[in-house]
Amino acid sequence: MSTEFGFLKAFTKAGINQLTGGVLTSAQALWGEILSGQRWWETGCVGYAFPKSSFNDLEIGSQSNYKFRSIFTDNYANFAINVPLLEPGNGKRLWLSDGSFSSETVSPKDLLNNEPFRSYRPRPFSSPAYFLGNPIKGAEACLQSERHRLACAIELAKRTDWQIGIVRLSVFDQLFHLLGSNFLYDEAFSVRPAVCAFIDFANQCLEEIILSSANATTCIMSAYSHSECTKRANLNLLLSQLGYCTLTDAKQVKRDLSLRHRSTLAVSTNMESSILPTALVTLTNRFQAESSIAASPIHGAIYLNTKDRFQDGIVEVREKESLKKQIASALAKILNDSGVRNTSLELNPQDSQSTQAPDLMICANGLDFHDAYDAPAVDTFSHPLTCHTSNGFVCLDEPSQQTFNTLALNKLLVGRLT
Ligand SMILES: [Zn+2]
Repeated sequence: MSTEFGFLKAFTKAGINQLTGGVLTSAQALWGEILSGQRWWETGCVGYAFPKSSFNDLEIGSQSNYKFRSIFTDNYANFAINVPLLEPGNGKRLWLSDGSFSSETVSPKDLLNNEPFRSYRPRPFSSPAYFLGNPIKGAEACLQSERHRLACAIELAKRTDWQIGIVRLSVFDQLFHLLGSNFLYDEAFSVRPAVCAFIDFANQCLEEIILSSANATTCIMSAYSHSECTKRANLNLLLSQLGYCTLTDAKQVKRDLSLRHRSTLAVSTNMESSILPTALVTLTNRFQAESSIAASPIHGAIYLNTKDRFQDGIVEVREKESLKKQIASALAKILNDSGVRNTSLELNPQDSQSTQAPDLMICANGLDFHDAYDAPAVDTFSHPLTCHTSNGFVCLDEPSQQTFNTLALNKLLVGRLT
């Protein structure tokens, strides 16, 4: 159950349901499945980016990179607020950016002529990390940003006869990153009254949005939640300890990491630029491809360096199936030996390489992934307060208390359209 589910249940008149994404814990991966109704291995969408010609060559992905069929098409009017992957569309979509890839903030563009759209910014900052020194200030910025988004959503909901709408709340994700897993329940938090006032305000807005769209299906949701983080793991260091991966010189990697940190910091100090996807700048040249069998260029995703996928691939296609299983069990064992329990692994069942999908997805309760090379591969001492879990919530315009997985939610939405 998501941490905020129980809390919101008391406040929400619309039916609130639980949502689960299995091994997927990143926004893009979960939304890839919700929007397409296809599993991650069919779309290749498992994180903010995907490796192209090599696992040293990452590209940030949006819907068109993955070429999946989305329930949101240009054929009918729809309403997409803060939904990852979805692009602005051709004018039939009322769209507010989630800030992950586009420099556009709203669509159609003429919305920019007026407030509240002109000053809409998808995120209050490019990374919550830069408010860790002042989490209360960061939390206030998050609440203010979500209030502004909801004010825009209400305006849009009144505009047209759209058939399907999704309002994605991302404030809880940001607050968990900043404040830890107890902020909703611990009365000692000075920001708690502001959070409660926000939830009151949000409920009024959401009711208004649902009422504005009596003939449409509206979902208000958050696809994942957080739990307390107890460890962080660097999958590439683990793969290298197991002999599957050769990392590039650590000094080079450190230099790239510090460059990324500096560029993100530079931009995050300028709020006006916070729509830029700087937090998503990718690391390159981390692996020695000519001697790496597998690597994890995206958190939680393992790719085999196969010849049918990568230009510098070294793994024969016929070796794929047995390697997948071998690596899965070796990783589960090394994590278990390091005290990580409840590891979940899901193997890509496809043997032909038709998408950019990884060969293996991995997650574990309380485990975050990291890219640092000067920390232990499994780090029990230094880790974030919380990490993502695959449990989210979805409020729908009819009361119910069900648990959906990503594909079932997609099916429900498709059913409402036809
Ligand atoms: Zn997050």
